[in-house]
Amino acid sequence: MIYLDNNATTRPAPEVLEAMWPYYTEHYGNAASTHLMGQRAAVAVEEARAQVARLIGAREREIVFTSGGTESIHAAIRGILPFRPRCRRIVISAVEHEAVIRLAEQLEEEGYQITRIAVDSLGHLDLQMLAESLGDDVAIAAIMHANNETGVIFPIEEVARLTDAAGVPLLVDMTQTVGKIPIDVASLPVQMAAFSAHKFHGPKGVGALYVRSGVHLRPLLVGGGQERNRRSGTTNVPGIVGMGAAADVAARDMEAAEPRIRELRDRLENAILQRVPNCAVIGDRDQRLANTTMIGFEALESEGILLLLSEHGICASGGSACASGSLEASHVLRAMGIPERLAHGAVRFSLSRYTTAEEIDMAIEKLPGLIARLAELNLATERKVR
Ligand code: PLP
Repeated sequence: MIYLDNNATTRPAPEVLEAMWPYYTEHYGNAASTHLMGQRAAVAVEEARAQVARLIGAREREIVFTSGGTESIHAAIRGILPFRPRCRRIVISAVEHEAVIRLAEQLEEEGYQITRIAVDSLGHLDLQMLAESLGDDVAIAAIMHANNETGVIFPIEEVARLTDAAGVPLLVDMTQTVGKIPIDVASLPVQMAAFSAHKFHGPKGVGALYVRSGVHLRPLLVGGGQERNRRSGTTNVPGIVGMGAAADVAARDMEAAEPRIRELRDRLENAILQRVPNCAVIGDRDQRLANTTMIGFEALESEGILLLLSEHGICASGGSACASGSLEASHVLRAMGIPERLAHGAVRFSLSRYTTAEEIDMAIEKLPGLIARLAELNLATERKVR
């Protein structure tokens, strides 16, 4: 298998699995228990909190462990609303992850007004629209750091400067950037940041919400009072330990891995552009995560491409999906105004530090032939239909 779907999820690092295992087999106590087994688990959770905090430049007490990116996003947005009762508007970008998009729709049904900030055809955020949209009626702004489909990175320092000047709390969805690029929340006027362990070689089902000291949130989950009353539910000790280990490994390897990943991504991208006719990269090629390329194959359907690639051992993702019987481009590609003939055949390849040069060469060898076969098949079907 050639796994090129690392923005969906990543392979857990061996160091992560090794760190987690004892918390399943030996130290399986409940971190809230007062006995020795519980205390051992509680200490491990605090060590992991320090590791995660270090990775993003936060203080330990500013890290709340959750079940992942989705929960962190919900906890931040829903959590701040009771503290800003007179603010009835929420600002998001048009290309946020579904976790934000769907929650915004729910809140719209509950009477909130949603302002969706536009992006241009390269995926850049309209900063002027953002500046003009902020006001004292805005409860929270939720803007992502990098887009999961295109990899396009938003200028989060600029965004934070604007929200800060307007006095609007900012949640940054850092799910695609933590562990990939250096982050220092302490130097940004960001109030909250959501991220998830499985995107940086940690385990699935565990994530964190950074909450800047002094920011108050009403907890989404109440009950046992874990996480200093900020997130109830029996603590996922092995998961949190794994996330801590993943944070340490990322801090150690991230900078050295980036140029190598970028080189492999560019090699794959350039080979596809050279060898496959009628295709183009979607999104800004410069202001982009080093591991991601989204390529639109004209007049083809991404689902067909993905199936064929999968049959030949290549795992990737699509920018379009079958919605009620017809192919629909993702909200990201629609917001960017990507022409349908490109958007329908959009495929995302995302690498990780475990992607090898051999895998990329193998993908380069297989891909053009497979796409050509699909294009021929398409042409034949079109002729028949005519
Ligand atoms: N935000 C972004 C940008 C993502 O890519 C994802 C994962 O696909 C999420 C949020 C949700 O994260 P999780 O799967 O941990 O809930």
